[in-house]
Amino acid sequence: MQPITIWRRISQVVFLGVAGTWLAFGWLRCPFGVPFVSCQSCPSTECPGRYLQPWFVGLIALSAIFSGRLFCGWACPMGLVQDALGRLPKPKATREPRFGQIDRYVKYLKYVLLAAVIALIFQHNLQWARPYEYVTRSPSIFNLNAIQVAWGLGGGAYKARFAILVVALIGGLFVFRFFCRYMCPLGALLSVFNKLSLLTIRRDETRCKDCSEYRCKDCSEYPRECIQYTVPGTTDCVMCGECVQGCPHRALSFGLRRRASTLKPRNQPRA
Ligand code: SF4
Ligand code: SF4
Ligand code: SF4
Repeated sequence: MQPITIWRRISQVVFLGVAGTWLAFGWLRCPFGVPFVSCQSCPSTECPGRYLQPWFVGLIALSAIFSGRLFCGWACPMGLVQDALGRLPKPKATREPRFGQIDRYVKYLKYVLLAAVIALIFQHNLQWARPYEYVTRSPSIFNLNAIQVAWGLGGGAYKARFAILVVALIGGLFVFRFFCRYMCPLGALLSVFNKLSLLTIRRDETRCKDCSEYRCKDCSEYPRECIQYTVPGTTDCVMCGECVQGCPHRALSFGLRRRASTLKPRNQPRA
């Protein structure tokens, strides 16, 4: 394992330790239509979102302004789950999401889901309906009865959330970072900042051998695959740095945007 990967894993595990319980509670039992959003008015006595959320909102906002989707690559616990699923063996056909035109269009699904989530927040989260007494006050975070009660009382929004989680986990078995690439509303929001952030990944033109169709992705010497199947600095890039340490010519580095060259695929845009 190379240094950037080691530091990234340490960072991801620390954030999983800090926010893993919140992640599980939000997906499985949050009494709101959209989890992780209304924590400051939540009746739950157990979910750590009530004190974690302000810190995470601040952290994600700062991270987005400074470094685009760095949060996705280095901190998000769900990203770590997707990374772990990605390490399992995959069918040859889905090792890279080049399903003709399908991948090109399906990755915009996350923007549709972002719009749907915003609509759901206004529709559900702002209402003060609380049929979840047992759910919000049950003693254990993984209490199965509480999850059953949430399933029974949660209505369509809860079932849709649960279905999305199942699809995300199953999809992650077939396509690396399936949820991040196709479905995550937060990822969709943060992707906009990849074009505006101060920090980006720059390429030293004098070192780059320009040896592939997508340069740092398809190069025959490139030892690791990009975890997002994309090009540095594009909207899908999560600033993980795997390509920085993987480039055999040391042509890539983290750097400030004003000094960076824009990385673009030679033939067709992919992100
Ligand atoms: S604190 Fe409440 S609103 Fe926030 S994720 Fe936890 S259960 Fe949901
Ligand atoms: S895309 Fe979403 S799930 Fe994936 S790492 Fe980013 S915030 Fe986390
Ligand atoms: S382009 Fe590089 S930094 Fe961006 S996601 Fe791929 S490997 Fe990570």
